[in-house]
Amino acid sequence: MQVRGSVIRAPDKGRVVRFRASTPAVDRHGTVVRPDGIRTDQFEKNPIFLWGHDGYGGLMKPDPESVIGRVVGWEKGPEAFDVDVEFAPAEANPKAEMAFRLVKSGFLNTVSIGFLPIKWHEERVPGEAGAEEVRTVYDEVELLEVSLVPVPSNPEAVALVRDIAGALLRGVVPSDVSEKKAPEDTPWKKPRLEDFTNKPWDELTAAEKRHIAGHYAWAPKLPPERFSDLKLPHHQPSDGAVVWNGVRAAMAALLGARGGVDIPDGDRRKVYNHLARHYRQFEKDPPEFKAYTEAELRQLFPDLAPDAASDGAPPSDEADPGALEQAREAVKALGAKVAAKIVRGRIEAALKEESE
Ligand SMILES: [Zn+2]
Repeated sequence: MQVRGSVIRAPDKGRVVRFRASTPAVDRHGTVVRPDGIRTDQFEKNPIFLWGHDGYGGLMKPDPESVIGRVVGWEKGPEAFDVDVEFAPAEANPKAEMAFRLVKSGFLNTVSIGFLPIKWHEERVPGEAGAEEVRTVYDEVELLEVSLVPVPSNPEAVALVRDIAGALLRGVVPSDVSEKKAPEDTPWKKPRLEDFTNKPWDELTAAEKRHIAGHYAWAPKLPPERFSDLKLPHHQPSDGAVVWNGVRAAMAALLGARGGVDIPDGDRRKVYNHLARHYRQFEKDPPEFKAYTEAELRQLFPDLAPDAASDGAPPSDEADPGALEQAREAVKALGAKVAAKIVRGRIEAALKEESE
């Protein structure tokens, strides 16, 4: 059995966070756990803090990687069961560090307790349409573990996790807006939205957004949600013609020059294929698709202006890119398994709960 609570305060320093693990409120299963009836005798022997109740049904031993900390203190009363959790150091478990960062930065704040029921009774309460419902009230339970659960706490966090999910999912290579070649010596300047239109992005039609996306080698989806989502421009805004210097800059960024470009690894090959085709249009041999050292990249692209190899995305003003980046990194590092859980199941559940 599980019941949920949330963070009370994040630490200013140190690795201890206080969470409200349980209250007498009705949980989503329509049950109530009385906080003062939570027994900790067994738990005290092994006060583990887990990621998502992973591998722990009260019988199985948890996966060591899923143990992200320990409960160092708790307070029990009729109104609440609060726990102080010390996150494991990064050296002991990198997953713990990621989880700690997600909590600290406000992306996750929900904990859940796993328990065995000891004593309970049923209460009849008025339900929908005058019908009576039976509610289970747990008067006494044996605490087994406390878990951090990947359910975001507020609408902003939900939106961010959706962005994270978007980052984990594959993007698309838009179809070329034009096959036409600009003269080979055409200088390249990364386009801004104003170079395409004088309307704000949100006022553009889906067709207009797709048309603009056709100047780029990667988009998270079509039509893109934001102009800043588009990566690796190489067609000029005036007529859509392919600009050789833009193709080279995009290839340089794809292969990792000057910090590279933030697109899913699974998309890199198809972006490469798109750019390699443009190389051949200009009768050039594309560089091999492989990992390069910085020195090799400098040799391959010696003359690129400092900014030319950037991904062409102006900083987004819709989200804090630093925080989003940190969250993306953290979610990736939490492992494909956990990420898949967040992406597939939990977001839907979280959205449903947020709207309830
Ligand atoms: Zn193209």
